[in-house]
Amino acid sequence: MKLILLGAPGAGKGTVAKLLTAIDGSVQISTGDILRGAVKDGTELGKEAEGYMKRGDLVPDSLIMGIMGKRLQEPDCAKGFLLDGFPRTIPQSEALTEMLTKLDIKLDMAVNIDVPRDVILDRLCTRRTCNNQDCQAIYNVKSMPTKVEGICDKCGSPVIQRDDETEEAISHRLETYNEKTAPLIGFYEKAGLLKSITGTSSDVVVAAIKSELGI
Ligand code: ADP
Ligand code: ZN
Repeated sequence: MKLILLGAPGAGKGTVAKLLTAIDGSVQISTGDILRGAVKDGTELGKEAEGYMKRGDLVPDSLIMGIMGKRLQEPDCAKGFLLDGFPRTIPQSEALTEMLTKLDIKLDMAVNIDVPRDVILDRLCTRRTCNNQDCQAIYNVKSMPTKVEGICDKCGSPVIQRDDETEEAISHRLETYNEKTAPLIGFYEKAGLLKSITGTSSDVVVAAIKSELGI
């Protein structure tokens, strides 16, 4: 399957993407994971992106398109991909459309995961992420705690609160979402690709996607 996952930070895009990956081997492409990996590795890309990310601002479109232009041409994408956290601005959507046309790739759908704001806020404040950049498993101190406090179940690395998960950065990320990313819902509706799913359970969202795709 070839999907875009839209939704506010904390809507569950990453969790849904991981569940979908298990269905047919489509790869999850998370620009946030790629950027956090680059920051940890101290690459040029990481150095350029770090400040924006800490503040909860978007990284410039040019950097993102540089990453995605290469990523979508890697062989593992041929089976299918789940775009998690990209596109996030109208210029990124336009550039993606152009890129997919050139590569002769057709999207199945842009899924908007619609979750109430109070649920989003609560989730982001209680979210914890595995510090191992090759793992980046997501937990929640309330609803999905690690078996051993502070230690990732999957890889044993420390589980941390992200730098951009302070209250200030979170409210800024949500503002940025409303201003820059929410307009993508209209963009994909016009393109006839939008499917909106309201639901706070990732299993319910996945079931709705499967039924929409007829699988
Ligand atoms: P969330 O969806 O929970 O906000 P992500 O892991 O998707 O978190 O992104 C973390 C940060 O990485 C964003 O706040 C932003 O700074 C940067 N980022 C990720 N994807 C993009 C993108 N497509 N365009 C611009 N910035 C991005
Ligand atoms: Zn881990």
